[in-house]
Amino acid sequence: MFVSENLNVNKKGHLTIGGIDTVDLAVQYGTPLYVMDEVMIRNACRRFKSSIDKYYGGKGMVCYASKAFSCLEMCRIINSEGIGLDVVSIGELYTAVKAGFDTSKIGFHGNNKTDEELEYAVDCGVGHIIVDNISELLRLEKTAEEKKSKARIMLRIKPGIDAHTHDFVKTGQIDSKFGFALETGEAFEAAKQAVECENVDLVGVHCHIGSQIFDIAPFEEAAKVMLGFIAEIKDKLGHEISELNLGGGFGIKYLNSHDPAPFETYIERVSEVVRSECVALGIAQPFILIEPGRSIAAPAGITLYKVGARKEIPGIRTYISVDGGMGDNPRYILYQSEYEAVVANKASEERSEKVTIAGKCCESGDLIGENMPLQHAESGDIIAVCATGAYNYSMASNYNRIPKPPVVFVNNGESRIAVKRETPEDIIRNDV
Ligand SMILES: *Cc1c(COP(=O)(O)O)cnc(C)c1O
Repeated sequence: MFVSENLNVNKKGHLTIGGIDTVDLAVQYGTPLYVMDEVMIRNACRRFKSSIDKYYGGKGMVCYASKAFSCLEMCRIINSEGIGLDVVSIGELYTAVKAGFDTSKIGFHGNNKTDEELEYAVDCGVGHIIVDNISELLRLEKTAEEKKSKARIMLRIKPGIDAHTHDFVKTGQIDSKFGFALETGEAFEAAKQAVECENVDLVGVHCHIGSQIFDIAPFEEAAKVMLGFIAEIKDKLGHEISELNLGGGFGIKYLNSHDPAPFETYIERVSEVVRSECVALGIAQPFILIEPGRSIAAPAGITLYKVGARKEIPGIRTYISVDGGMGDNPRYILYQSEYEAVVANKASEERSEKVTIAGKCCESGDLIGENMPLQHAESGDIIAVCATGAYNYSMASNYNRIPKPPVVFVNNGESRIAVKRETPEDIIRNDV
C-alpha cells in the first residue's frame, strides 16, 4: 500500500512506522519531525552484507555513504552492523570518530579535500582515502611523509559510463568534476604517479556512476571497464591493485510506480561479471567495496508535518501549506524529486484529490511536491512524506532562520530522540 514496507495503518486509521502511531509521534515530539526506523536500516545493511557473502565469498565490504544521513546515532548503528563508512568532509569524519566508529573501515571522499581534512584523515587512521586529482595526491604524499605514515589510497576514476540517462551511454569523455578520466590516459598517468609516491600505497580504484539507478547493466559495464584498468596497471606498471570500489547509487522506491532491482540481484550479477572478467584478463579477483547511501537510509525515514493553510485556487490548484519545506527537504527545489505523501491521521481513507504541498519559506519553488495524490487535508492534520531518510536531514539548511527539526529513531514500537530540535537560540549561537 505504501512505498516503504515499514509503513502501515492501525485500527484508528493512523499511519504507523515501525509499529508506532505517527500521530502520537507528532504529538510527543512536535512537527516537523524526521522519523527513522532502525530496523529498516539494519535490515538493509544485512541484506547487502549477506549478498556479498553469498555471491562473492564474503570478499568485500559495504561502506555506508554517510552523506545520505549522518548523526552520532546513525554512525553507532552502522558501526554495530560491522560495515564500513564513507565520509566526504571533516564534519562527517568528526561525527564518525565521535561515535566511536572503527576508522580503519572509513573511506574519505571528495573532489577538493582541504589540507586540514587530509591531515585529520591521516591522523584518524582512516582505512582509505579516495584521491580525486594530482594536486591532492601530492599534498597527501607530503602530509603522510610529515606524519611519518603511509596513506592507503584509491583513485577516483571516471569510467566513461553515464548512468543518469535511462539507457546508459558510453561517452568519449564525461564532463564531471570528479576523478580522473580513463579515455584520455589521465587515469593511467595518475596511477603511475601514485605508484612512484613513497608515502601513499595505491591499493584500489574507485568509480561511482550516479545515483537512483534502477538498471543493473550500467554497474556491470562499469565493473568491466574498471577491471580492464586494473589489468592495464598490472601489465604496464607491474603493480597489483587489490581493491575495486564500485560506489553506490542503487535506486529506491519513492513512488509505487518505481521498480528498482533488488540489491541481491545487483550483487549476484556484478559478482558474476567480476569473476568472469578476472579470468579473461588473467588478474586476481579483487576485494570489492560498495557504497550504498540512499538505499540504506531513504526507505527507513519519513517526515511528519502539520498542515496550516489550505488554499484552493479554482481551476488552477490547491495548495496545502505545511510547517516545514525546503529547509528540511530541499530535494524538490533541487531536482523536482517525487514523493509519496499520506495524511497520517486519515491514512485509511482514499487519496481523493491532487494537491501541491508547499513549505513555509519565502520562495515560490519551496514545495514538497506538485500533483500529489492525497487524502482531503485540512488545517491541523498531520502529513507524512515517505522515504525521506536520505538527503533530507543531511541537506537541511536554516534558510529563513528556521530551526532544523529533530530526528527520532523508532525500533519495534519504541521511540527515542537522536538529534534534538534546534531552537531560536541555536540559530544565533555563532553570531557575535
Ligand atoms: C553519493 C555517493 C555515494 C552514495 O550514493 P547513493 O546514491 O546514496 O547510494 C557513494 N559513493 C560516492 C562516491 C558518492 O558520491
